[in-house]
Amino acid sequence: MDFTLTAYSELIGSLVRRGYRISGYAETEAAAPHLVLRHDIDFDLEAALRMAEAESQNGWRGHYFVLLRSVFYNPLSNFARHTLIRLVELGHDVGLHFDAALHLGDAAALSAAAEHECRLLEDLTGHPVEVFSLHRPALALLEQDLEVPGRINAYGSRHFRDIGYCSDSRGAWYHDRPLEHAAVAQQRALQLLTHPIWWCHDDLVGAQAKLEGFLARHQAIVDADLATNCSVYSPLRGRLSELFAVNGLPDK
Ligand SMILES: [Zn+2]
Repeated sequence: MDFTLTAYSELIGSLVRRGYRISGYAETEAAAPHLVLRHDIDFDLEAALRMAEAESQNGWRGHYFVLLRSVFYNPLSNFARHTLIRLVELGHDVGLHFDAALHLGDAAALSAAAEHECRLLEDLTGHPVEVFSLHRPALALLEQDLEVPGRINAYGSRHFRDIGYCSDSRGAWYHDRPLEHAAVAQQRALQLLTHPIWWCHDDLVGAQAKLEGFLARHQAIVDADLATNCSVYSPLRGRLSELFAVNGLPDK
């Protein structure tokens, strides 16, 4: 299977034709053909927006999980804030992608930290954060079933162990492919985690190329802003131009 937005739409369309209904976390029933579309935004907000637009053209509602403390994007930046609001306008759900590795303490401390970040994200989007997902959780944290009162843990037992779970981590299906998943064969509920970066920028093939493309775009944004903010800086734009011959400079 190609990792393109067209292939993604065909994949979801194929599950829908097999009787699956796109579902939210709260209403998902394990024994029903319910499909939860989850997207963890580890790197690329621009790719998330493209994926969200493709989903909304098909009438599908996705769940987009946002990091607040990543070095790869700043949710308070102009582009990020407008992207998050646009995701909500398109009918999608914006949740928190919580990086527990940045916090110290026991389960109660982690729960309080996640709650704090959920509230910050609610302030940013103006919409309630109903669900959070964990970014690269340690096995012990996965098994711990972290609870935040009033919020749903996307890796909680109900959505991770009781139903099917399938992920494109590292840009490939290293375990089950979605259509060959046991849950799909049994018409049981499935949480499908896809990371937008792997499915966009069709001119770049493979995880390494897509990550390099992202890095180059990110660098161009910082480069341009550095030149804007400090006149003694000589921008790299000319030296980076070859990297953007295809995609052009991204929005910041
Ligand atoms: Zn993540």
